[in-house]
Parts: sequence; structure tokens; C-alpha cells
Amino acid sequence: MPCADAPVRGSGGPDRHDRARVRVSALCTGCGACLRTCPERALRPVAVPGASRLLVTAACTGCLECVEICPADAITEVL
Ligand code: SF4
Ligand code: SF4
Repeated sequence: MPCADAPVRGSGGPDRHDRARVRVSALCTGCGACLRTCPERALRPVAVPGASRLLVTAACTGCLECVEICPADAITEVL
């Protein structure tokens, strides 16, 4: 497919996100600080042994408040 015909990611409008803007790593201890901080309530706890304890939903706007508050440096921005 020529590049000009490829689908454009994130073209659904300014309020729609096609992917989360941050990622939670296995460093997460489950302290919950980011859950309390997120203004969009975009973080959801998940009970999966051995994996990240949080799911970042499409409600994430990329404000990065969770990155700032995390004491374990477990959240990173997805570029
Ligand atoms: S603040 Fe960091 S360590 Fe605490 S629950 Fe969130 S990602 Fe995990
Ligand atoms: S970047 Fe902002 S909106 Fe996204 S999960 Fe973190 S605190 Fe919530």
C-alpha cells in the first residue's frame, strides 16, 4: 500500500485517543497513588499475577500527573 493510502492514526478528532499516552511497567507496587491522582480516572486495576497491576484506558489525555506522582518510577510516557 502506498504511504498516501495508509490509515492515519488518531484522526478521530481532538477528544478521541486511539491509544493510551502512558505505560505502567512491572515496577508498579500497587500503591494506588496514581489512581487517586488521575483527573480522568483513566487507570484501572487489573488482577494479573506477574504483570502490570494497572491498565491505562483510552480516557488518558497524557497529562503525566501519574508519572510525576509514582514513587516507583513505574509509569512512562508513550511517545
Ligand atoms: S503510583 Fe506507581 S507504583 Fe503506585 S500504583 Fe501507580 S504505577 Fe503503581
Ligand atoms: S497521563 Fe494523566 S490522564 Fe493519563 S493516566 Fe496519567 S494522570 Fe491519568
